[in-house]
Amino acid sequence: MVGWGLLAGAAILLAPKVVVEVDVSASPSPAVWAERAKALAEEWYPKLAELLRQPGWKPPAKVTLRFEPMEGVAGTAGDVIHISEAWVRDHPDDWGMVIHELVHVVQAYRNPVPGWITEGIADGIRYAKFEPQRDSALHDPDKSPYTDGYWSAGAFLTFVERWYDRSLFTRLNEAARRGRCTPEFWRRATGKSLEALWDEYKNWYRQTSEEKGRQPRLSDLPEQRGKGAGGE
Ligand SMILES: [Zn+2]
Repeated sequence: MVGWGLLAGAAILLAPKVVVEVDVSASPSPAVWAERAKALAEEWYPKLAELLRQPGWKPPAKVTLRFEPMEGVAGTAGDVIHISEAWVRDHPDDWGMVIHELVHVVQAYRNPVPGWITEGIADGIRYAKFEPQRDSALHDPDKSPYTDGYWSAGAFLTFVERWYDRSLFTRLNEAARRGRCTPEFWRRATGKSLEALWDEYKNWYRQTSEEKGRQPRLSDLPEQRGKGAGGE
């Protein structure tokens, strides 16, 4: 069944909002960056909790942002987000990373969940809901399948969300928390198998690349199938 349980929270997240640019590249003080990250987390954590809501479930009430010398960019364990101080110094405008890690805190999966779903939800929310104004380019699905996770999966999930089920992120997250990311999930949400959805996305990508003569971007994703035909 398509389009049931429309998500009010997603509509709020997709509403137009002001574009605020921050440029701390001239003085990337870690303390200043950390304060801004804290404010961002306080603003977005409730939105993420709403988007990834589930009856009777509460996300952790406390989140720690820990800046430290570490390999890589960032990582989340439970309600602690570890952030590389060197990364922040070199990439002071990487607020999307904070959102990605905050999603992991809210997800709090205890059951085994396919990695591409965990990371696809985090990057789908990051690129399509937190920073849509960046209009990120979409990876070529023939070179980077959804099983690569991250934005390769996030863009695919966003395609399915817009085309089939506006509450996809909410429902997929709930299925993941319950350990029920089964083939049946996709059929119930969209009427199609995961493989069929992936083929559709690949075909859309190829067709759009040809039509536009360039790499498709987030804003090229179709907004809604049969808009106005079936109600909500
Ligand atoms: Zn991640």
